[in-house]
Amino acid sequence: MEIACLDLEGVLVPEIWIAFAEKTGIAELRATTRDIPDYDVLMKQRLRILDEHGLKLSDIQEVIGTLAPLEGAVEFVNWLRERFQVVILSDTFYEFSQPLMRQLGFPTLLCHKLVTDDSGRVVDYQLRQRDPKRQSVIALKSLYYRVIAAGDSYNDTTMLAEAHAGILFHAPDNVIAEFSQFPAVQTFEDLKQEFLKASNRPLSL
Ligand SMILES: [Mg+2]
Repeated sequence: MEIACLDLEGVLVPEIWIAFAEKTGIAELRATTRDIPDYDVLMKQRLRILDEHGLKLSDIQEVIGTLAPLEGAVEFVNWLRERFQVVILSDTFYEFSQPLMRQLGFPTLLCHKLVTDDSGRVVDYQLRQRDPKRQSVIALKSLYYRVIAAGDSYNDTTMLAEAHAGILFHAPDNVIAEFSQFPAVQTFEDLKQEFLKASNRPLSL
């Protein structure tokens, strides 16, 4: 049995925080782990900025609801689900991803969770576990699935290494150079081909 694990942001949907920063014009929200490597410091800053702008979860979801999956992503997910069981492994939060997941037909998603108070203000967040993408692959392997994984960035590389086959998709040059053991492709057509190559079952486009 084979299972496909996909990263979400940068693979199927835009980087949610960056797209959200652009939609709202709040430039401070563009910061990522590249600017602030400590994820906890970064998230606390993001939550503080949301508060300063009086943005509650429903306001945020409304803005995110105006975003669309990357061009070709919906068709790709449908293609993949006809050939593999598909699980999305992401470092986003269920509450943020929901408007985009709706457009993708709600494939299975394992990610983190936000904590809101009675007024809908985002007060905290809960990470599911440490190194969650790799741990998910380990868990699927313990169920005797053969895992093929695709992602675009550093936070995917332990997942790609743990999988039976790992594929870089939309990865920047520095990630491709540093992780040259993985095939790297840039279009959904090429990504389909990589999944077919990585599969040990006879599949076709
Ligand atoms: Mg990503």
